[in-house]
Amino acid sequence: MTTQYIGRFAPSPSGPLHFGSLVAALGSYLQAKSHQGKWLLRIEDLDPPREVSGAASLIIQTIENYGLEWDEEIVYQSQRHDLYQSQIDKWLQENNAYYCQCTRKQIKEDGGFYLGHCKEKHHSEKNSAVRLVMQHPVESFNDIKHGTITIPSKLAHEDFIIKRRDGLFAYNLAVVLDDIDQGVTEVVRGADLIEPTGRQISLYRQLGANEVNYLHLPLAVDEKGNKLSKQNYAPAIDNSNPKPTLLAALTFLGFIIPLEVKQATLNEILQWAIQHWQLNQLPTGLEITTPFSKPSI
Ligand code: GLU
Ligand code: ZN
Repeated sequence: MTTQYIGRFAPSPSGPLHFGSLVAALGSYLQAKSHQGKWLLRIEDLDPPREVSGAASLIIQTIENYGLEWDEEIVYQSQRHDLYQSQIDKWLQENNAYYCQCTRKQIKEDGGFYLGHCKEKHHSEKNSAVRLVMQHPVESFNDIKHGTITIPSKLAHEDFIIKRRDGLFAYNLAVVLDDIDQGVTEVVRGADLIEPTGRQISLYRQLGANEVNYLHLPLAVDEKGNKLSKQNYAPAIDNSNPKPTLLAALTFLGFIIPLEVKQATLNEILQWAIQHWQLNQLPTGLEITTPFSKPSI
């Protein structure tokens, strides 16, 4: 028996969807649907200070307007703190994690990497971050499009933070516990998340869980090479007239779209894209300039 493909799109509600996040949504959707798989939607609302009010429902609305249908109920990370905390407690009890009170300044003085300063200090919980004892450093991994990707050794060996000093759960921990819990078999996302992938794989190994495949999609960048992001005020994509932007996102993903498909309905375009999607059409570069960075569009 082969396991069913389960993919997902996991946006953070720090602003409306922009062109770059639509590419990630669409790429993960096409990859899942062309494998007769499920495509899950998870709202990564882990960081309330960075959240923009109303962004989560706007993102969901946009995904719907673009014709991307998710399977199962939407999962919200803000409702899953117990899952994250109980794993942290377990690791603390087993001495696989410990409290750390290093400041950013201290770590900067050590050359930008945490060197194990608090490992034997037995700090208490108050004003502390929690770090995982790194027992499974991952210095390279396989990306199904880009092949072997290497990770700087110092980064791979660091005891990284799984809960921040301000009490917020770290993205790497939440993403892995959720992907395992939801049965995700393949992670398709933007190339901006290549670097944390090694840490995420080390978490699978620490947990003894089945590892997943990774596919990193080219990143949409502006003319200056900056990533389109909410922080850069990348414009929200058009919610009322999705077709032109959908066609642009498909072109970005390497499709050459015949005229009759361009003239079809949104759902027909998506069905055509599911049927024609293949990894070797994807551009090989990890960054691609797009005109969708200008607020005038
Ligand atoms: N929530 C992350 C983001 O919006 C993506 C997480 C992931 O796909 O692993 O950047
Ligand atoms: Zn420390």
